[in-house]
Amino acid sequence: MIDFQKVIESIYVELKDDINRGEIASYIPELSTIDSQNFGIHLKHIDGNSYSSGDWNIPFSIQSISKVLSLAFVFPIYKDTIWERIDVEPSGNPFNQLSLLELENGIPRNPFINAGAIVIADMLVSHFDNPKHEFLNFIKDLTNDQTINYNYDVAKSEQRTGFRNYAAANLLKAFDNLENHVDDVLDFYFHQCALELTCEQLSNAFFMFANHGICLQQKKRLSQSQAKRINALMLTCGFYDEAGEFAFEVGLPGKSGVGGGIIAVLPNHFTITTWSPGLNQKGNSLIGMKALEKFTTKTNLSIF
Ligand code: GLN
Repeated sequence: MIDFQKVIESIYVELKDDINRGEIASYIPELSTIDSQNFGIHLKHIDGNSYSSGDWNIPFSIQSISKVLSLAFVFPIYKDTIWERIDVEPSGNPFNQLSLLELENGIPRNPFINAGAIVIADMLVSHFDNPKHEFLNFIKDLTNDQTINYNYDVAKSEQRTGFRNYAAANLLKAFDNLENHVDDVLDFYFHQCALELTCEQLSNAFFMFANHGICLQQKKRLSQSQAKRINALMLTCGFYDEAGEFAFEVGLPGKSGVGGGIIAVLPNHFTITTWSPGLNQKGNSLIGMKALEKFTTKTNLSIF
């Protein structure tokens, strides 16, 4: 029997004073003020137990981690028609890269690069009268936590500075792969990225991916096949041009965000979230990647 609490605490102690912490994302001005010393880990096991250390209870901007949750929200609605508008291949490029989108006629490589998530946002805007409200309720429901909210200052900050996202959305529109107005779709997209959750809330929200589509409240949210497919996408596309490195070092499906969060899943076992805001050059949390590498090495648990 692995003593998860002991493993997590030892990793926390080994890394908490690491001076090499990476760079805080400053291209979204509102994120640049976060203290790089923050570091938390939280694991939710499907047997119901939780294990944690450090700053696991401080809400942070989940940014691109939200792309997995928005996909999970639309998947049961749009089913496999999603894949007529978005591909399922790793991009091997940064999350906000545009040239591939032009070359490939407005079909984003996958739902976890910005252009792909913007198409998913378009589907939600088409389907719901108030998509921001519905998406927030979905997250509150998954976590069984009514306190979760958007950080409106972060959303505004990105609205003011998200020029590449405007470019991506306009390109999608030019290729006829956006049904709604660019501003309406991006308003939803910036808010989904600006959701704030703690490590614990994220581990709980992702529980369904470790549990064949059944969430923490025992509701079936995804079919077994849909959960499996999203896990496959996290493994191959969850870390932009570092997806190979994450599979190589950590060996779990996962997703990162420029707020410094990483969520990883071992199907049938657990979800684990780390948060440390300093990023490496590819935009993934530096300490978070190290922590997860240590975790799968020490426990010898990975999908491989
Ligand atoms: N909101 C950010 C953006 O669109 C998300 C990027 C990320 O977390 N990688 O640039």
